[in-house]
Parts: sequence; structure tokens; C-alpha cells
Amino acid sequence: MKLFKMTAHELHEMLRRKEVSSVEITESVLRRIEEVEPKVHAFITVTADLAMEQARQAAARWEKGDGGPLTGIPLVIKDLICTQGVPTTCGSRILQNYVPTYDATVTAKLKAAGAVLVGKANMDEFAMGSSTENSFYGPTRNPWDLGKIPGGSSGGSAAAVAAGECIASLGSDTGGSIRQPASCCGIVGMKPTYGRVSRYGLVAFASSLDQIGPFARDVWDTALLLNAICGHEPLDSTSVDLPVPDYTRALENDVKGMTLGIPKECFGQGLDPEVESAVRRAIQILERLGAQTVEVSLPMSDYALAVYYIIAPAEASSNLARYDGVKYGFRAKGNHDLMEMYKETRSQGFGAEVKRRIMLGTYALSSGYYDAYYLKASQVRTLIRQDFEKAFAACDALLTPTAPTPAFKLGEKVDDPLQMYLSDIFTIPCNLAGLPGLSLPCGYSKEGLPIGLQILANHFQEEKILRVAHTFEQNTEFHLRQPAL
Ligand code: GLN
Repeated sequence: MKLFKMTAHELHEMLRRKEVSSVEITESVLRRIEEVEPKVHAFITVTADLAMEQARQAAARWEKGDGGPLTGIPLVIKDLICTQGVPTTCGSRILQNYVPTYDATVTAKLKAAGAVLVGKANMDEFAMGSSTENSFYGPTRNPWDLGKIPGGSSGGSAAAVAAGECIASLGSDTGGSIRQPASCCGIVGMKPTYGRVSRYGLVAFASSLDQIGPFARDVWDTALLLNAICGHEPLDSTSVDLPVPDYTRALENDVKGMTLGIPKECFGQGLDPEVESAVRRAIQILERLGAQTVEVSLPMSDYALAVYYIIAPAEASSNLARYDGVKYGFRAKGNHDLMEMYKETRSQGFGAEVKRRIMLGTYALSSGYYDAYYLKASQVRTLIRQDFEKAFAACDALLTPTAPTPAFKLGEKVDDPLQMYLSDIFTIPCNLAGLPGLSLPCGYSKEGLPIGLQILANHFQEEKILRVAHTFEQNTEFHLRQPAL
């Protein structure tokens, strides 16, 4: 088996037994990047020299007997998570030359764990999108079919794992941007509970929704990454001060005694028949493995998309006001007064989707409209959260499709924002309620494209999700398939 195709826990075993060195693993991944990156374009920046240096440091740690689960494991970080000395562009022209002077909390934690950073992943500009086509640096392609989108906005992070250009990665999820690309690329992706992972050093899109989380080839690696990145950060007032369990202890091969809720609203109009049958088969598999299932209802989820497209743009319009060409980032040339400089910088620096969101958000927040839009959306958001509370009174976790369709064609939805927004219809309610959610592969379409199963649980019940996901994975083989490329 090639090193770049393996999981972190498999590599860890080999490192522990001194059958391989972290330098060899990193070299294998860097060669793979050279080979497939021209086709996939998962990266905005490849940090080969830094990676080799970190690999040598990891090797030294292993020599001293000081290797942990991620020591010497090549990872990729989405390009909106700050990395000291390494460009962090957010997929935007406006931050093309931005090199952070500090590490995000998660970056610092991964470094402390001895992980090797091979690069920064491509993404939709400021995480706005579902296909990675909104990147200023050009789209990423789906490793399963280069004519298809990898999902978004963390499409680069997902494609890099699927293509063997790293072992695991980090993304961010505001409305589905970890789970939907994981589903499109046939890997595991998890959005933790809001507050579980610090957002310090994560460039903000919609602060009340954003959360960082892992992509990996299996549930075990997902748990290892969670162990590394979760925890309280005093520099982030929204990070929660709760002890971090060892998530690998939740990895049982057993769902007996668990009740899984099936929200009836998720199986209606607009759901691709192949996705529906794969998800229904997955539910049967879990029933056969001993889980009870009950039908539940999330009636307010009908409004989730509408609520999200008020709240997310409103928060974005405020968060993105700081990019004005003054302190850092891109500045348009040849302007003589301040207003002109602001206008030109923002006109040239932002792409179409970002401008659309800034305009939507500014409008929704403007005086006279605030009550009708933002306030109303916030009220409905509470009702959505209450739907979940009721559902979780009757079950331990919920099962739904992750996305309504498998990966679609590049270019298919770029000119139709509303169609693009519908890609997140099953993932967005979870962000609005601040819940944890995971997507894992549960089937393939006739065309050979991966299909994802979404598992949701109540706040801070990541362990229940991991238990269901691991049991499913241990008893099926969907996660073992890899794209031919
Ligand atoms: N696709 C959704 C959007 O465009 C969600 C993005 C995300 O989770 N960052 O806003």
C-alpha cells in the first residue's frame, strides 16, 4: 500500500514500530502532490520546504520516543485558517498578499502535536459557495471525476484527502462547507458543536455559524483530529470551557440500544433517487446492527435556507467591512482620495458572490429593514433549534442525506445562485442550531460518484455521532474505495 493512501492511525502504527519515518511519509505525499495537483488543483499554496523541515523535526521526536498520534502526519489546512509566515488568502484576491504574523489556535495545536503542514487548501472566496468555483485562484476538481465539482466551500481540503495529497485536513463549516464536500469526495467530514473548537485565527465569514472541523479517510482519524483541535481558548469568547474527552473511546462497533431519528422532511421533493436509496439502505444497515429507528419531524427546517441567507450575509457584510485596502491585503492602484480607494479596492478585490452577500447583508441590516429581516430570521432560528430539541427528546441522533445530489458538473450552477444555495438544504439547519454533524460515505451513484450519510446529535454529543459512524463504517466497505485518478 502506498503511504499517501493510508490513514493517520495506520501510519502511526508503522511509525511506532519504526517501519517508516515521517520524512518518508512526507516525501510520498509531496510526490503525490506533484503528480496529481495539475489535475485536481486542491491547493492555493504548497509548503514543501516547511513540510520537509517539520517532517525532520517529527522524526527527531520519534527518535526520542516522543511521538503522538499526529506526529509526522502530513495535513492540509483550509486557506482561511491563519498560519504564521504562510499566506492565508481566503480564496480571495483581496488577501492575495496576506501573510499572518500569528497561528490560529488550531494551527498551533496541530504544530504542537507534531503534524506536518503540506499546504493551504483551495476554497470558495471567504467560504461562500458549495463548489469551490468561487475561488479567485480557479476551481478545484473532484478526484472521482475531474469534470465534477468537489463540493464547497472547503473543496480543496476534501479533494486533497480523497486524492492522496495529504492524510487528513481541516476545513470550516458555516452552512455545510465540511459535510457537503466530504459527501462529494467520498470521505468523512465533521462539524463539531459551535464553541467546541476555537475560532481564534479563523477568518470570519458568519461568526455565529462558523466552526472548524476535520476531514479524514475514516472515522478513527476524524476522532484523532478532534482530540487535537478541540478545547477552550481564552482568546475566543465563543469557545466553550468544557473538558475534551478522548474521542477514540467513543469508537465502539455497536449501536444496540441507540435510537436514531429519521426526519421525514429530508426525504421529499428535490432529493435525487440514487441518494435516497443509498441513505435508506444505510438506515436499514444500522437497524440490522441493532439500532431502533423512529420517524421525527423538523417542520421549521423548511425555512432554514431563507433564515441562513439573511443571517449569514448580514454577519458577513459586517465581518468583511475590514477589507478596505488600508491596513493589509490588496489595495487598488492609482486613486487620489480615500473614498475612491475604498471603492476601487473592494470592487477589484472581491468576486461576484462575495459582493452579492455584502449587498444582501447590508440591505437586511439597514435601518427600517432590520426588524423585518434580521430580527425575524433570528426568531425563526430559535424555532429551528426548538425543533431539534424536540427531536432529540425522542432519539440519540438523526440520520439524513448530506446533500440532495451527488457532485454536479463544473459550471452547471455557477450562473444560478439559488440552485447552488440548495446544495446545503440538509446541512444548514444544524449550523443554525449550533449542533455537531458528520458526513460519511454510504454509497455510490451509477456514475461512480460518492454519496454521503449525515449524522447529527445534540450539543456536545460528538461521541454519539462517532459511535454511529464508526459502527456503520466497521460493517460496510464504502470508505475503502479510492478514486482512480
Ligand atoms: N454553501 C453555503 C454558503 O455558500 C455554506 C458555506 C459554508 O459552510 N462556509 O454560504
